[in-house]
Amino acid sequence: MAALETQLTELQKQYDDFKTLGLQLNMARGKPGSGQLDLSAGLLGAFPSYKLEDGTDARNYGILNGIPECRNLFAGLLGINADRIIAGASSSLNVMFDTMASLCLFGTGGGKPWHYYKFEGTPVKFLCPVPGYDRHFTICEELGIEMIPVPLLEDGPDMDMVSELAAKDPLIKGIWCVPLYSNPEGVCYSDEVVDRLASMETAAEDFRIFWDNAYGVHHFEERTPLKDILAACESAGHPDRTYYFFSTSKITFPGAGVALVASGEKNINELKKHMSAQTIGHNKLNQLHHVQFFKTPEGIRHHMELHAKELAPRFQMVLDWLEREISGTGYARWTSPKGGYFISLYTKPGCASRTVELAKNAGLTLTPAGAAYPYGNDPEDSHIRIAPSYPSLEELEKAMKLFCICIKLAATEHLLK
Ligand code: PLP
Repeated sequence: MAALETQLTELQKQYDDFKTLGLQLNMARGKPGSGQLDLSAGLLGAFPSYKLEDGTDARNYGILNGIPECRNLFAGLLGINADRIIAGASSSLNVMFDTMASLCLFGTGGGKPWHYYKFEGTPVKFLCPVPGYDRHFTICEELGIEMIPVPLLEDGPDMDMVSELAAKDPLIKGIWCVPLYSNPEGVCYSDEVVDRLASMETAAEDFRIFWDNAYGVHHFEERTPLKDILAACESAGHPDRTYYFFSTSKITFPGAGVALVASGEKNINELKKHMSAQTIGHNKLNQLHHVQFFKTPEGIRHHMELHAKELAPRFQMVLDWLEREISGTGYARWTSPKGGYFISLYTKPGCASRTVELAKNAGLTLTPAGAAYPYGNDPEDSHIRIAPSYPSLEELEKAMKLFCICIKLAATEHLLK
């Protein structure tokens, strides 16, 4: 006890010293750093032409599902069929919201609109692997879809639990998945998980997988393979089970890139019908510029290697600090992802909110504790998402020094309670 009290006094002093520095550091969101944004500076310049390969003038209205050369570029990059892609919106989250909203309003495949159940007093439910992406959960909350947390294991969601729940409850209409370098765990789905998701029995005929492959080409070194979910669903006899989302937000410019949704033929036709009431066509000039900038899927892969050069040292710095300051203390454990944008850190139960609060009060903003869980509720109060991409290396060094003090201080306070 006395040793802990001495430790508390010492940590408190280090913490107070930090507070006097008046830092203003932010690691709350997975935003690319300015060096990463500069990699796509070429996209801001003049472009060789505004004519599509077939002579169409890209400056004018039309082509709801996206210009063929852009769909072909993504098809080649992701190994999906260009005819099953709708490309062109500038944010995939936007497309996810619209897709979910159209399911609520219109239903799919002849099933009832999902909001029918809501107005009957029994809202539909979605399975949410946790920890997961907070904005997916916000979409569900906003649309009144109940969320059921499912543990995310090392190779994807706990499929025993997912299969059991999906098989027995017809109100469970789908699952959120971030299959490569998941936000925030960095988990990559195994082939077995992909196959089980594609082939499992579901009580709801209109069960849908929201496959958000936001980090599908965001490797640090070797490229982790991902089994083709659309093909797996097709061979399992469920060609319309999955909506596949992707965007160039973290390839070129966040919110100003090109997003896509891909799915089975029926789903794509349904989406096109709803979309045709919403827009005459997306920004074709942006699509064309992306094609002219990258030229080939290999062009994008090469570009991602440049991103990795910016990102990998930041991730390494975070891991080095944690290793040096925290490992062996029992105060936290963390993930070591091979790509993506995040590291998950788990404090001792009951210490995450306090750690984040301490950091905030000394000038370091982190994602709120609990954000990676539906309704912001981390039952253990243990998870913290670390987003190292945005600060410079110099800022990150300061941020990590402070963060490690906060982890230790919160843990020591907790032990003395
Ligand atoms: N999906 C995931 C898993 C993300 O982490 C993010 C951004 O952090 C997005 C989607 C947002 O994508 P977009 O900018 O295309 O809307």
